[in-house]
Amino acid sequence: MSDELMVRAENVHKSFGPLEVLKGVDLAVRPGEVSCVIGPSGSGKSTFLRCINHLEKINAGRIWVDGELVGYRERGGKLYEMREKEVAAQRRSIGMVFQRFNLFPHMTALENVMEAPLRVRRESRAEVRERATALLDRVGLASKIGNYPGQLSGGQQQRVAIARALAMRPKLMLFDEPTSALDPELVGEVLDVMKDLARDGMTMIVVTHEIGFAREVGDSLIFMDGGVVVESGAPDEVLGNPRHDRTRTFLSKVL
Ligand code: ADP
Ligand code: MG
Repeated sequence: MSDELMVRAENVHKSFGPLEVLKGVDLAVRPGEVSCVIGPSGSGKSTFLRCINHLEKINAGRIWVDGELVGYRERGGKLYEMREKEVAAQRRSIGMVFQRFNLFPHMTALENVMEAPLRVRRESRAEVRERATALLDRVGLASKIGNYPGQLSGGQQQRVAIARALAMRPKLMLFDEPTSALDPELVGEVLDVMKDLARDGMTMIVVTHEIGFAREVGDSLIFMDGGVVVESGAPDEVLGNPRHDRTRTFLSKVL
């Protein structure tokens, strides 16, 4: 059942102390689909993304990625938290790209992309270097592999961050407002890389304010507000014919 889906979330709850941030979130993403998430600031979008790779522990509900329960093992109807090592292994199959690029400033673009695969040590340095070089070429940065982050524009840094996530061969990519920190003229080059990834069949969940991207690339659009999914569906439907007042109000502000 759940293994036909790349991501399945059921009734996810998350609180920080007394603050209930996620109040029963459901999501289903099929392999190869791009799911875009929109919603006002503070509605729980980032928290939900972080729950999907267990950077946040959920208080109730279940999340599966590729048929595997995230962060827990189920035995005899009971849930047992995974050990740190298992969590780390699970997380490696999920790439994440943040608003801030978080590159290592003392490493070149190439070294940034090579770092995680080398640390995990399943491959030779030569193999890792070859793949990292190909990935930087793919994101349009073949001529910048020796540059340090400080010598790159924000858009270039974000493309390095995407290549770095891809270097671990993820089966799922999570993007949390990947273009929000960029100067407007640099947004397009990052969205183009994401479009290319989508075309190539990557499963993606993208929190974004780029409604045009959601409409063009998204297979589904999810509107979150106040810790719940208010509505979801085909992007054209949600954008063109929103069923809820809260969605209409939000869209009137961003469109
Ligand atoms: P969004 O990404 O939609 O803007 P977030 O998921 O970042 O929303 O935040 C949702 C709510 O959870 C906000 O009120 C935020 O202040 C709160 N929150 C997020 N992370 C934490 C945390 N680590 N500790 C306490 N509160 C948090
Ligand atoms: Mg956020």
